[in-house]
Amino acid sequence: MRTFFFWLGFAALAAGSTNQARADKLRIVTTTADLAAIARSVAGDAADVRSVCTGREDPHFIAAKPGFIVQARDADLWIRIGLELEIGWERPILEGSRNTKIRVGAKGHLDASEGLLLLDVPQTQVTRAMGDVHPMGNPHYWLDPLNARRIAGTIAARLAQLAPGHAAAFARNAAAFQQALDERMFGAELVKAVGAEALWAKTQDGTMGTWLSDAANAARAGGWTKAMQPLRGQKIITYHRSWLYLANRFGMSVSGELEPKPGVPPTAAHLTELAENAKSDGVKIILQEPFYSTKAANQLAERSGAHVVVVANSVGGQPEAGDYLTLLDLIVGKLAQK
Ligand SMILES: [Zn+2]
Repeated sequence: MRTFFFWLGFAALAAGSTNQARADKLRIVTTTADLAAIARSVAGDAADVRSVCTGREDPHFIAAKPGFIVQARDADLWIRIGLELEIGWERPILEGSRNTKIRVGAKGHLDASEGLLLLDVPQTQVTRAMGDVHPMGNPHYWLDPLNARRIAGTIAARLAQLAPGHAAAFARNAAAFQQALDERMFGAELVKAVGAEALWAKTQDGTMGTWLSDAANAARAGGWTKAMQPLRGQKIITYHRSWLYLANRFGMSVSGELEPKPGVPPTAAHLTELAENAKSDGVKIILQEPFYSTKAANQLAERSGAHVVVVANSVGGQPEAGDYLTLLDLIVGKLAQK
């Protein structure tokens, strides 16, 4: 009798073909859709990747639903943005899952901010009066394509530790993602002529603008660099301080935010001040995510003559943004229209 039930159970397991297919794959759970997209590019067929947040949600405020805990329970690798972006909801998921493999400090827990160049790292003690300031630095780093390039490498290295048999494939996949990213960023011709490392270095040391002012260099540039060229040197206003890394990489700067302090909704007094700044800084673009109200942005646009650009800042935030590269295509396309 016992043998019969054993075989019955075995047959039921074997019949669940999706379970079986998933059994040989690594299970990766990421906190955000952007990390999931990059992890998918790197892991290829070797992993099943899911994200807690969809790209349509504000990642600061996610309710820890039971479904997330169930996903985390079986995960081999948990990847987070870190820098306290997920402070409101990560812990209940990790603790609720009782999965020791993905606890902070375990091999199955990867903080994607490791090794990135961070902005807005506070030089003074952060207090409540400063609003929801992220005390370890600005966590909205994924829109810097150079950071996405590095994250792919970080994920490949960790996956190689977890599944050494696939290490070569992870390295190959990461390199292919990075190559595609380089070509999208600078155009294939320029990458071939100058080399990706040298080009990224110019975006880091601030010499890209001058270098592109040479007509021969500009003529070879393609991709996002070419599309964003007219915006170089411009100041923009954003809703939350979430576009800083993108602006920085493309030679723009952020003149101010609609939020008077991080996490605090716009006020009339703050808008008056911003309108003055917008005029004196020649701001043409007010940039924000679709999940914030556009009321303040529209008011500021009316008073300053700037244009409101609403675009997703995460994969899946709009249908066109199906992966990391198409997300940047979408953002660059929207900005370049202005
Ligand atoms: Zn934030």
